[in-house]
Amino acid sequence: MALEGALEADVCVVGGGYTGLWTALALKEREPSLHVALLEAETCGAGPSGRNGGFLHGYWASLGSVLPYLGRERALELARAGEQIVPAVRALADSRGEDVWLREAGMVMVSASPGQDAAVDQAVAAAEEIGAAEQAVPLDAAGVAEHVRSPVFRRGVYFPDGATVQPARLVAALRRAVVAAGAELFEHTPAVRIRDGRVTTPRGEVRAPEIVVAINAAAAAWRAVARHVTNFGSYVVLTEPVPELLEEIGWTGGEAVLDARMFLHYFRTTADGRVLMGSGSGPIGFRGRIDGRFSRDLPTGARAEHGLRRLLPGLAGARIERSWGGPIDVSSDHLPFFGTVPGQRVHYGLGYSGHGVGPTWLGGQILASLVLRLDDEWTALPLATRRVPSLPPEPLKRLGGGLVRTAIMACEEADEEGRRPSLPARAGAALPRLFRMEIGTR
Ligand SMILES: Cc1cc2nc3c(=O)[nH]c(=O)nc-3n(C[C@H](O)[C@H](O)[C@H](O)COP(=O)(O)OP(=O)(O)OC[C@H]3O[C@@H](n4cnc5c(N)ncnc54)[C@H](O)[C@@H]3O)c2cc1C
Repeated sequence: MALEGALEADVCVVGGGYTGLWTALALKEREPSLHVALLEAETCGAGPSGRNGGFLHGYWASLGSVLPYLGRERALELARAGEQIVPAVRALADSRGEDVWLREAGMVMVSASPGQDAAVDQAVAAAEEIGAAEQAVPLDAAGVAEHVRSPVFRRGVYFPDGATVQPARLVAALRRAVVAAGAELFEHTPAVRIRDGRVTTPRGEVRAPEIVVAINAAAAAWRAVARHVTNFGSYVVLTEPVPELLEEIGWTGGEAVLDARMFLHYFRTTADGRVLMGSGSGPIGFRGRIDGRFSRDLPTGARAEHGLRRLLPGLAGARIERSWGGPIDVSSDHLPFFGTVPGQRVHYGLGYSGHGVGPTWLGGQILASLVLRLDDEWTALPLATRRVPSLPPEPLKRLGGGLVRTAIMACEEADEEGRRPSLPARAGAALPRLFRMEIGTR
């Protein structure tokens, strides 16, 4: 139902993806009497929440890059908080009799070229350093083959804290839970203006003392956060069912798998024996525009298919049946950030950097606490307290980001092909370090 006319609420949540839905649910669970109105521009899950790869995990797999950046104590806090994500999704499904195709089979990061070995080793070393070696189990080539066999996998690391879901089923389950909890949901209701205390829509307005902006990539155009985030594309291909080929390569345990590129490949199986292969190498956006470059991106689709054939040659004969993609909101340090616009009661959360299926649950807890003015375990997380570095303004953001992307991709391709990358590519790939952007860079 779309909003017609004026509405008074205690909280207005804008955006009906996982972030907005988990926030609304957390608010109703903590304060059942709150009047929560949720506005979604299209239908819930119309954004990436309804069409992602379904990798569900917290931060153990990011520890290698997060630890030097956040330090031991804060990184551990984040990783431990993230451990609650999979149980929370399981609890939602169990308590409401929903089948979100949750498969808790862990996640394997593989090295598929010499240049990727270091990231795998770093993940193992970071978990050891923090006293949680069991969260990142090193695998030699034979160990990786016990999960999935490929001639290009050199070594890997197994993260027990990882699962997969069917993303659209998770959105639908959350949407039903939010409505059952008593929140008022208005779909086909875009917020066209957000001011402190008031959200304007095409045919009405919501007056609410607390507002939560949970619009993900669309927020890259919003002045309050634009300097900290930009959009990149991510694209997936899905094969026909090939259960017999999965048997042949020994990938029957349901593990989520990713390689150790920066513009990574992420791949998983489905309950009916298909393989989804994603590539996070899509184009960089400009001024937060969400257009066809993200949703009809044939070059990135081709890179995803190339990844499928290279990484899993045993699936050479598997036909691609579908492909799709969308924007990912990449923050300047590749971690999501949550906060409140200074002097207002407008809260925001975004910057998941292609890794939001699980962390949006944390986001919902943090945003609910911000709304309720609580200083608690959620608002104390580094996701809500750290200083997020700034990116250059447009058009430098797009030009610089595009340059670095091209350079890193050239380095990663050369590495996979056993070549030394060209000097300009190496120089371009090193640029973010010069600007002290130490995370998510090569
Ligand atoms: C192809 C692809 C694969 C991915 N795979 C994975 C994965 O396997 N694992 C993982 O962890 N992450 C993955 N991600 C990222 C993940 O999907 C996102 O981090 C997550 O869905 C973000 O949820 P959200 O609710 O913040 O944003 P969204 O899902 O984008 O929700 C925002 C909502 O706000 C609405 N909206 C926008 N503007 C307005 C407005 N003005 N008024 C009202 N509503 C508005 C949109 O319609 C949308 O429904 C993937 C992303 C893509 C594109």
